[in-house]
Amino acid sequence: MTAEVSLRQLVKRFDGVTAVDDISIEVATGESLVILGPSGSGKSTLLRIVAGLEALDSGDVLIGGKPQQNLPPHERDVAIVFQHFALYPHMNALENITLGLRHGLGLDRATARERGLEFARRMDIEGLLDRKPRQMSGGQRQRVALARALARKARLVLLDEPLSGLDAQLHIALRQEIADLMRTTKATSIHVTHDQSDAMALADRIAVINRGRIEQIGTPDEIYNEPATAFVAGFIGSPP
Ligand code: ADP
Ligand code: MG
Repeated sequence: MTAEVSLRQLVKRFDGVTAVDDISIEVATGESLVILGPSGSGKSTLLRIVAGLEALDSGDVLIGGKPQQNLPPHERDVAIVFQHFALYPHMNALENITLGLRHGLGLDRATARERGLEFARRMDIEGLLDRKPRQMSGGQRQRVALARALARKARLVLLDEPLSGLDAQLHIALRQEIADLMRTTKATSIHVTHDQSDAMALADRIAVINRGRIEQIGTPDEIYNEPATAFVAGFIGSPP
């Protein structure tokens, strides 16, 4: 397997708490890796490290073989979707999607607009493009956030619990769209969640983490049928 992303012995401490405790993972090109763990297990910290939003105590992140250590967030070939859709409140949906394409990627106005419309179509939000975030539902806002992130066509897509807080029906629908989008765009992704069923539905491989450490990495089938630790069995709800 070609490692598109290598996380090497990542360690991050916050006074007293080791949030990320010696994590090493390789992600293959086009792979959907899901990091599954309970609240407080270090998932968001890990994604923020990969995005360059959190400094490491030790270890390194490689993307496409290139060490990221000294690269600021905007120079990393990474797109991130946060748990709470961080849209700009004063901009409409299309402006939210195209802003980073113009100022981050440097596309001209017409090209950014065309790219924005393409991803708006994929996320089924073409009818909402002139609305401000406050004029949209939670699910619609999350679609805008996904379109904005994916339109960057970044080498790596990071998703921090993008489905949490949505009602059950919307949750399932959007989950299916994320899965389809990841497949059709052949994106390499790291998706963190505390939700076992999301992990099972979306992952090529799952890494189960607990207190900043990896308990097991495997396919959904392996994790479910051959849990390596009592923690994994308990958390996944595998048959005894
Ligand atoms: P998760 O996303 O899995 O819920 P987090 O990565 O948010 O977990 O947090 C992991 C641990 O690190 C928790 O104990 C949390 O309290 C701690 N932590 C996270 N961010 C900070 C911070 N900025 N300052 C201090 N402690 C933090
Ligand atoms: Mg979190």
